[in-house]
Amino acid sequence: MNIEKPYPLMMAPAASSLRVLSAGSFEAQCGKCRRFSHPVDAVGREHAWSELLREGWTWYTSPLGGTGYASCIECLTHSAPGPRGRSS
Ligand SMILES: [Zn+2]
Repeated sequence: MNIEKPYPLMMAPAASSLRVLSAGSFEAQCGKCRRFSHPVDAVGREHAWSELLREGWTWYTSPLGGTGYASCIECLTHSAPGPRGRSS
């Protein structure tokens, strides 16, 4: 199975891209459709991102420039290039 898994190392840029709504509340913005996630209650950015990961958000890193962006579950579903099977 070739499933792109989010590795801990990739959480840093993803977490830092989250918007802080208020203390303990975060949201992510999809780099493709610009949609915002719902507010996530978390103790910190990495915690918030881990919650989003569980909901299907993914972090992509551009092969060209090294910049990355978050992808919401909708975009992931629509543009998934690889196998769709998820083992969760
Ligand atoms: Zn999206």
